[in-house]
Amino acid sequence: MIIEPKIRGFICTTAHPTGCAQHVQDQINFVKNNEKIKGAQKVLVIGASTGYGLASRIAAAYGTGAATIGVFFEKPAEGTRTATAGWYNTAAFEKTAHSDGLYAKSINGDAFSNEIKQKTIDLIKQDLGKVDLVVYSLASPRRTHPTTGENFSSALKPIGKTYSEKSINPMTGEIKSVSIEPAGDGDIENTVRVMGGEDWELWIDALQNAGVLADNALTIAYSYIGPVLTYPIYREGTIGKAKEHLEKTAALISDKLHNIGGKAFVSVNKAVVTQSSSAIPVVPLYISLLFRIMKNKNIHEDCIEQAYRLFNEHLYSGKNISTDKKGLIRIDDWEMREDVQTEVSKLWEKVNSENINDYSDLSGYRNDFYKLFGFALPQVDYKADVEIKVEIPSIS
Ligand code: NAD
Repeated sequence: MIIEPKIRGFICTTAHPTGCAQHVQDQINFVKNNEKIKGAQKVLVIGASTGYGLASRIAAAYGTGAATIGVFFEKPAEGTRTATAGWYNTAAFEKTAHSDGLYAKSINGDAFSNEIKQKTIDLIKQDLGKVDLVVYSLASPRRTHPTTGENFSSALKPIGKTYSEKSINPMTGEIKSVSIEPAGDGDIENTVRVMGGEDWELWIDALQNAGVLADNALTIAYSYIGPVLTYPIYREGTIGKAKEHLEKTAALISDKLHNIGGKAFVSVNKAVVTQSSSAIPVVPLYISLLFRIMKNKNIHEDCIEQAYRLFNEHLYSGKNISTDKKGLIRIDDWEMREDVQTEVSKLWEKVNSENINDYSDLSGYRNDFYKLFGFALPQVDYKADVEIKVEIPSIS
């Protein structure tokens, strides 16, 4: 089949297997071309198929030589419908990892459920015994509570008052002001239940109770802070409340892991283009401006550079893990540099639909967006016929 991108709003409903494989290979090559890291050997990544989770899995496998188990929620191809990008990414990752002699197995299903937690524990017991790093990188719009069966849907809304700001349609380049109504009843609580720390804690409880966490095991989850201009929709909005909860949960989990010498951390990562970040109003325009500035200053990073730096300079640097005053690991440090943010603010004032290409890296944003789904990779012949049914070798 010839596969073309089909964009619907902020998602692409098709994915290209060869392109996804190339995107994964590029990330593997990046890690292979950097120094080896002395770190975790048995790693569980929850949310391992795209974005930061996939990059973490690759950094673990190729940086420290770790065996990895990846958990995610993806769909295989059906009829003429392509698989999701995360499915193709994982198929490519596993195949390459296996041929490089690395253990890699994957579990597809709802990570919020007890069933998937148990399945993961059984697989760890069967194959690895214990894990010494658990990466928690889920991003989901909804969650069903594993014991009460309640359904929670997260909302991306400001709190207290309407937020009006410039926003871009990244596909057309059109910029207009959007107004987002404030959170209503239950929006904050629901978003915290989906994207806060409750499920992370449940995972660590389940792994610890099953005795599958190694002595001195680490666990890490990801957060975002970003610039003041997106505070109303991000840091001070419903999602920000969930992130605050996630950050507080790290301390709780660290207490629980004390007896095995383990610790929980939250890393604040930089803004990158992922399926999740492209769904947040205002953020894509900010990212387009940010990319231009960070590329000009030669400090641009995508998920893989961030994940590698997290492993190499923070988690496994051989020194104490450095954090800010709140105990957060900050790999958003280059994004948040004063010179970078001052330039973003200046451009933010000036940017409009007419001058967007002069002031931003919209083409870089778009390119990254297409790459998420395996499109726009220069090495791939998109006119070639491809088989859309692709197996993941070790999936359950
Ligand atoms: P993403 O959409 O690329 O990845 C989400 C992952 O979660 C995928 O592997 C998906 O399969 C998995 N997933 C979703 N629902 C699931 C479910 N019910 N069961 C099992 N797996 C499920 O997202 P991302 O942007 O890489 O986000 C990962 C984390 O990084 C989030 O906590 C996010 O807030 C954080 N973060 C993102 C950015 C950014 O700019 N994208 C910046 C800083 C922090």
